[in-house]
Amino acid sequence: MTPEEFRHYGHEVVDWIADYWANLEALPVSPDLRPGEIAARLPERAPETGEDFAAVLADLDRVITPGLTHWQHPAFFGYFPANTSGPSVLGDLVSAGMGVQGMLWSTSPAATEVETVVLDWLADLLDLPARFHSTGTGGGVIQDSASSAALVATLAALHRVSGGAWRRSGVRERYTVYTSTQAHSSIEKAARLAGIGDENVRLVEVDQDFAMRPDALRAALDADRVSGATPALVVATIGTTSTTAIDPLPAIGKICQEYGVWLHVDAAYAGAAAVCPELRWSHAGVEYADSYCFDPHKWLLTGFDCDAFWLADRAELVQTLTVLPEFLRNAATESGEVIDYRDWQVPLGRRFRALKLWFVLRWYGAEGLRAHIRRCVATAQRFAEWVRADERFEVVAPHPFSLVCFRLRGSDGPNEKLLRAVNATGRAFLTHTKVDGRYVLRLAVGAPSTEERHAAATWKLIQATVDTE
Ligand code: PLP
Repeated sequence: MTPEEFRHYGHEVVDWIADYWANLEALPVSPDLRPGEIAARLPERAPETGEDFAAVLADLDRVITPGLTHWQHPAFFGYFPANTSGPSVLGDLVSAGMGVQGMLWSTSPAATEVETVVLDWLADLLDLPARFHSTGTGGGVIQDSASSAALVATLAALHRVSGGAWRRSGVRERYTVYTSTQAHSSIEKAARLAGIGDENVRLVEVDQDFAMRPDALRAALDADRVSGATPALVVATIGTTSTTAIDPLPAIGKICQEYGVWLHVDAAYAGAAAVCPELRWSHAGVEYADSYCFDPHKWLLTGFDCDAFWLADRAELVQTLTVLPEFLRNAATESGEVIDYRDWQVPLGRRFRALKLWFVLRWYGAEGLRAHIRRCVATAQRFAEWVRADERFEVVAPHPFSLVCFRLRGSDGPNEKLLRAVNATGRAFLTHTKVDGRYVLRLAVGAPSTEERHAAATWKLIQATVDTE
């Protein structure tokens, strides 16, 4: 494809995306498909000769779009949001067009330096502790996901707790990891990948608001110490996946200090809320964290993948992960004056992901980001009021952000049926979880195009569905 052909078809693709966004509301939020239906619409083999680009574009409408759950749809309320936005897509496009590898500072200095500066900006926007700043001992890096952030935090914790022995000899002691029963499964996965083993992960009990109980954490640490294990890592969550519970960081942080354990804070979804000063109470105690992450790709208008991960001491992570083969040696690395982000992550190669974040921060500004978060939170709070006003329903957990967990009073069966029936209409999409062993519906507000009227229409749909059953 020549640059001129690219210009031509590129304009068509941008038009296609703009039309997709403009017409989303008219589409069913999720498809009604049987497994294999989309694959059956594709030829058995790749084409022998190149095709007309018009045919490829036509297949976006014929094959792909009917097979999508539309995460940017204004009535998408499932899981947590996976926002994207115009500036994010354009930043990704430019990054793809440049096609640079930012594994070392020297392989594209701008890719490294923009990332460092943008993560410092973002740390300021969230009012994170100064020790996460690259101007001190800390610094931020973009990981693909909160799961990867949890993995590298776990590895750094092992490096620290073993005094570096883990790097040479692997996991030779019984190390333990602590997180709440409500924490995301990625914490257990990270411990497994790190060789710690499922049986050394302690799922600490939670209180009535589903937040980790510091007394239970302390008891678990004591019991493990007595049994000869070495506590390596505590992972606290701000905004748990099921209900957005907030673990009490001030108490947990003090315990981690006392026991000399690495504290990683997983704020994958709710970290974005900290751009709003009135929601920063949720981050009280974050100054105790050795590492912290959140996903701009969830709730901060930046397309997947983009996890922002900070450390208080970047040198520990670099020592944990660095391996320097001859073919990567260069003067800048040897000067010690530059960041080589390959040492901050599992893969070697990395694309210029900071570009989309830079575009997003510059297009929206702090004010625009706050407005987005506030609109989502306000809509979710209104939804909770509507649920509370209908005595057939109950709200089952605190809802400090933009997720509401609710259910029909009574047994699980009608709730499961209700969710299936609502989603089958294609007019809204919600997901479920279990809270205290009971089946619960989750409504998460986050798509940039969602307005209060969409939540109101969804609530009416839910009520009408119950009325007809
Ligand atoms: N942590 C929490 C609290 C989450 O809610 C999620 C996903 O929803 C994750 C981690 C995993 O996120 P990612 O897909 O970025 O790995």
